[in-house]
Amino acid sequence: MKLALLDPEGRIAAHERMPTAGFEGHRAVLARMAEAVRRLVEQVPGGEVGGVGVGVPGMVEMASGVTGDLPNLPGRWQGVAVGPELAAATGLPVHLINDARAFALAEARLGAARGAETALCVTVGTGIGGAVIAFGRVLFGLGGAAGEVGHLIVQPGGVVCTCGNRGCVEPLATGPAIAAEAVRRVVQGFSTRLFERAEGDLDAITPELVDQAAEAGDAVAAEVLEDAGRWLGLALAGAIATLAPEVVVIGGGVARPGGVYWRSAEATARGHVHVMAIDEVRFLPAALGYDAGVVGAALWGRGRAA
Ligand SMILES: [Zn+2]
Repeated sequence: MKLALLDPEGRIAAHERMPTAGFEGHRAVLARMAEAVRRLVEQVPGGEVGGVGVGVPGMVEMASGVTGDLPNLPGRWQGVAVGPELAAATGLPVHLINDARAFALAEARLGAARGAETALCVTVGTGIGGAVIAFGRVLFGLGGAAGEVGHLIVQPGGVVCTCGNRGCVEPLATGPAIAAEAVRRVVQGFSTRLFERAEGDLDAITPELVDQAAEAGDAVAAEVLEDAGRWLGLALAGAIATLAPEVVVIGGGVARPGGVYWRSAEATARGHVHVMAIDEVRFLPAALGYDAGVVGAALWGRGRAA
């Protein structure tokens, strides 16, 4: 869980970071959020903070500030009044936004999609978040749900996704998917040095470790990343054909710019779009890095409070 205090120019004036510890339940998480907000507000001369924006990893009712399904958090947070509860605890106006939409908002205002009229933004981590910039603004769509690239179907009848569907790209191309596939290959006796790199601990086989192994010439590790990247690329191709974006911004911890996964995703996407000038589409890494989500959420809170 990351918190940031933005100055009027959108720069981070102060920040905090803490484990979400979602297993403690939403009450405990919200209480810690409220305390951290109060600590940040105390650092502002005169205590003048316009509002709070919260990026949430999943569905959210934006008008009421109530969360829908947050599939990657324990308890899934269905119907939790995050906005009203945090507003009551902090005395500040609170506005919620999906975390991928927050990421896109920050990248459009201050980052890699700045100046683009149409952009596709994707983050790959534990899940796959997505958002669309249209006419230079975040496209929300019905219920703020536009841009869910992670739930484009790339394998009909495939793996069950956290959303309940089968064949979505998310369970095939995220960090956990990469780690699980690498572990499977180790267990099945593929010729790879991943097990040694992980010092014999299967739990230590992370997407980063797989990436490092691939860079060092481990063919099995490279293939795992190529396969996962190819799935993402297919989803991107569908979204690109739909939107014809000038820019595709990719962020999150899994897609290292220039890495095997990134190159596979980009090459697959480019190779599967034949209805527009795909050569003119720029694939760019998120410019705000790990701060994009928290900056976007703060921009949202400020914009709504103003
Ligand atoms: Zn899905």
